[in-house]
Parts: sequence; C-alpha cells; structure tokens
Amino acid sequence: RRKAQEAERSRPAITTDGHQVAIAANVNRPDSVPFALAEGAEGVGLMRTEFLFLERGDTPGEDEQEAIYRAMIEALGNKPLIVRALDIGGDKQVPHLDLPKEENPFLGVRGARLLLRRPDLLDPQLRALYRAARHGGDLSIMFPMITSAWELQRLRARCEEIRVELDAPAVPIGIMIEVPAAAVQAAALAEHADFFSIGTNDLTQYTLAIDRQNPDLAAEADSLHPAVLRLIALTVEGAKTHDRWVGVCGGLAGDPFGAALLTGLGVTELSMTPRDIPAVKARLRGASLADLQDLARRALAQPGAAEVRALDHAALDGGA
Ligand code: PEP
Ligand code: MG
Repeated sequence: RRKAQEAERSRPAITTDGHQVAIAANVNRPDSVPFALAEGAEGVGLMRTEFLFLERGDTPGEDEQEAIYRAMIEALGNKPLIVRALDIGGDKQVPHLDLPKEENPFLGVRGARLLLRRPDLLDPQLRALYRAARHGGDLSIMFPMITSAWELQRLRARCEEIRVELDAPAVPIGIMIEVPAAAVQAAALAEHADFFSIGTNDLTQYTLAIDRQNPDLAAEADSLHPAVLRLIALTVEGAKTHDRWVGVCGGLAGDPFGAALLTGLGVTELSMTPRDIPAVKARLRGASLADLQDLARRALAQPGAAEVRALDHAALDGGA
C-alpha cells in the first residue's frame, strides 16, 4: 500500500490533454531532500540560502557553503537544484551582520540590493556555488528582489568573472520576479535571465501594499488578487519574447487552485512546500490545459480576489 502511494506520488503532473508541469520543492537543507522526493518532487525549485545565515551566530565560509551545496546536489541525484543567492533584509534579518537599521526594511537594502553592496557576502557564495558545479549535477543560480535590468547585468557579470577564475561550467542564471517593476518589465529582464521564478509572497505584498507579516491584513494579502494575476500574466508574456521558462516558488504554487490558475496563465514549473505536492499534482492531472487557460482568462477579468476564489467551486464542478 505504501509502495502504491509512493508510485502515485512520483507520477508526473500531466493534464488530461498531455501538458506536463514541472513540480519542485522548496527545500533549504540536504537532510530534507529525501522527504521532498518521497512526496513527489522532481527537483528543488527554491533553496533559500539565507537560512544558512539565520540559524547561527556567524557567517558560513566558502568551504562550508560548498559542502552544503554539494550535499544538496548529491541528495538530489541528477535532479535540478535552484539555489537562491542570499535574500537578507525585510523579514530576514541577520543580527550578526550588523546591517544599518532601516525605517522600511521591506523597501530597503534587501536581496540583490544588499548583494551588490556587499561583495564580502556575494563573492564567497558564488565561489562556493561554482566550486560545487565543478562536481556535476543540475545546478542553477537565482537572484532575489531584482527590480531593474542593470542589477541583473552586474550580478551576471560577477558570476562570469568567478566562473572563469574557477574554470567552472556555466550554469543557468535566473531571477525572482517579486517586485512589480520586474513583472512589468519582464521582457527587458528576459534578455539577461535564463529563467524566471515568481515569488508570489513578495509580489503580493508589493503589489497590494500590504506587509506580508501584518496579521490584521492577512486575509487581504491574497495572491489571487487579479492585480497580482495580471502581473503574472505580464511576466509570462515578457518571458516568451526570449523563450524563457517561468516558474512560481511563492505560496500560490502550493495551493491546488492557485496551481491550476498559474498553469492556465502559462507557468510551467511550480515549486512548493513538499507536503503540498500530492494535492497539487492530483489537481493538475484532473484538468485539461485548455480548461485551465479558460479559467485563467476568467480570473483575469474578475474585480477582486473573492470573485477569483469563487471560480474555484465553479471550476471544480466543471472539471478544471
Ligand atoms: C516569495 O517572495 O514568494 C518567495 C518565494 O520568497 P520568500 O518567501 O523567501 O521571500
Ligand atoms: Mg521573496
């Protein structure tokens, strides 16, 4: 019986009309990989490396980071691993780094903005990643909180310098789309990024101007808000101009209805908390891509998140 359940979980997410969606897990530690694989993950779509810094009182060095990335690659076999460069700032404060206090940390020196100002954090991480890549595996690097193309170009240039220094193989370099400006200008960013992964947690926060941690506004911080969905549609459209793939690694990917909508919007990889995988796969297997595209079209035309959510019941009745 357990075997049957495992076999069911390892089946891919293919719609009734044959469209496959890649299903990955958000995993930060090598010892969590086996559980994610057992739940049916086909890779890791988001490794949040800030946790290497948050869980301790000092900064992990290059050798230590390399060992962790290699352990992730090994635990995954040949399955893909997307490592996100440090996303510190906002809700992820690291006391031992002694960063200046900010009035609005979510609008401050966060993610890529910090990496560009602190080569002492960026360079050891990139060196560790390229050293790990020399041992094989399917590694990609992803940068958080990108707002403008110049940020990505500078980070890419630094990656390339380090890669050459270490005589390491090239790895795909992607970016998070989690700032509305990036979604609106996705086509310009797609020229310089190998892939996009949409962070719906921050994209929702920044689009709706709702602090993602404010409990009084939790119900309103809904990623199904049509304004957020329109930005996702724009991202997919922009990515297409350069043939880039688009994933989602924010919370919406792990919600079965959200996953259905995202697939209809043209997202082709969903990365989520491992325990959400079986329900998402089941939902996608029960619908056709044509139905999901129709669902997405209707969702984009709704006035608010509540009306989008109401389509869920209608969709379930109709098979999407
Ligand atoms: C997101 O913003 O949706 C995301 C995946 O990144 P994090 O939750 O780590 O900010
Ligand atoms: Mg984020």
